[in-house]
Amino acid sequence: MEGLGEREQSVDAFGWAARDSSGHLSPFAFSRRETGEEEVRVKVLYCGICHSDLHCLKNEWHSSVYPMVPGHEIVGEVSEIGRKVSKFNIGDKIGVGCIVDSCRTCESCREDQENYCTKAVATYNGVHYDGTVNYGGYSDHVVVDERYAVKIPHTLPLASAAPLLCAGISMYSPMKYFGLAGPGKHVGIVGLGGLGHIGVRFAKAFGTKVTVVSSTVGKCKDALENLGADGFLASTDDDQMQAAMGTMDGIIDTVSVSHSVLPLIGLLKSNGKLVLLGATEKPFDLPAFSLIMGRKSVAGSAIGGMKETQEMIDFAAEHGIKADIEVISMDYVNTAMDRLAKGDVRYRFVIDIANTLAATRS
Ligand code: NAP
Ligand code: ZN
Repeated sequence: MEGLGEREQSVDAFGWAARDSSGHLSPFAFSRRETGEEEVRVKVLYCGICHSDLHCLKNEWHSSVYPMVPGHEIVGEVSEIGRKVSKFNIGDKIGVGCIVDSCRTCESCREDQENYCTKAVATYNGVHYDGTVNYGGYSDHVVVDERYAVKIPHTLPLASAAPLLCAGISMYSPMKYFGLAGPGKHVGIVGLGGLGHIGVRFAKAFGTKVTVVSSTVGKCKDALENLGADGFLASTDDDQMQAAMGTMDGIIDTVSVSHSVLPLIGLLKSNGKLVLLGATEKPFDLPAFSLIMGRKSVAGSAIGGMKETQEMIDFAAEHGIKADIEVISMDYVNTAMDRLAKGDVRYRFVIDIANTLAATRS
């Protein structure tokens, strides 16, 4: 799809956009709406680079709309508030994650799970209810209804808080929902990337035993010593995988490419749950016997609701949880994407929007 909803609006905005599925990003002048009565305008300070940005830029989910300004791990400062805004004041540090609106009336919305509202509006690559295409956080500012923004506690460093808005909540929510958050539980985290490494930190803060299952043996030392994982399994080592069979209550799988889940199901105890987060397009092979024998289940999970996102951020502040990041300038973003595609990042790129975006305006 091209150019849908590129309607001129009243406030000038500037960011970086991809124009096609090459995913190459370059400077982009566009416009945003006036701040509505219940909305806040946010000066973007930092924006994390999620692997979903890469999937979308390259149209790997076949739903991309160009021009596309990605970015859904946004931390910024409120610069303007609508007349009826009650949650925020000008100058507040706030976060915006993967969704910026939802229907507000369906069962999911009523139960504070706006993330599962079928009409939820994505922060970018989504069409807003007014018919315009949304542009994300690789830009100077965003406008959002206050209901879809969260407060960033002042004790959290802003740059490393940005990845919590997607990676953090995406790991926190399934660990809580599937009963994996707490002492006596053993969780496996598959894929030690942006999501995976934050997941290890949350698991440790919950008191859960956590084992990293990784295809990169070189990450072992860091997983154990820096992130504090209790164990590390090289997924390519059959002996190690065999020895760990039947030991985990649950597994959160964050791998960004299609892969065999059969060995992972083998790691589960009876009644264990394999929760898929990696948004791979190809279907998995799922032999029935691997689930029947042990009453195991395979599930999915997507980010979290707004109430839970605030709870997660507050929990992160309380427990000193933050992402390990590499802060980059805006003009480094294409190199960062190439490196992310190769798994060459420990563990999240965060763009310093406030200090580096303006210099790219010609
Ligand atoms: P990431 O930083 O690139 O991490 C993905 C990890 O997967 C890599 O670090 C690597 O870990 C593993 N991996 C990558 N390529 C692999 C390969 N060819 N073979 C085996 N393992 C490989 O990505 P991310 O930002 O954490 O996102 C992970 C996935 O979750 C993406 O698909 C993203 O779109 C999706 N996502 C889902 C949600 C949700 O709510 N469900 C939210 C955000 C993102 P090792 O080196 O340790 O093997
Ligand atoms: Zn994301």
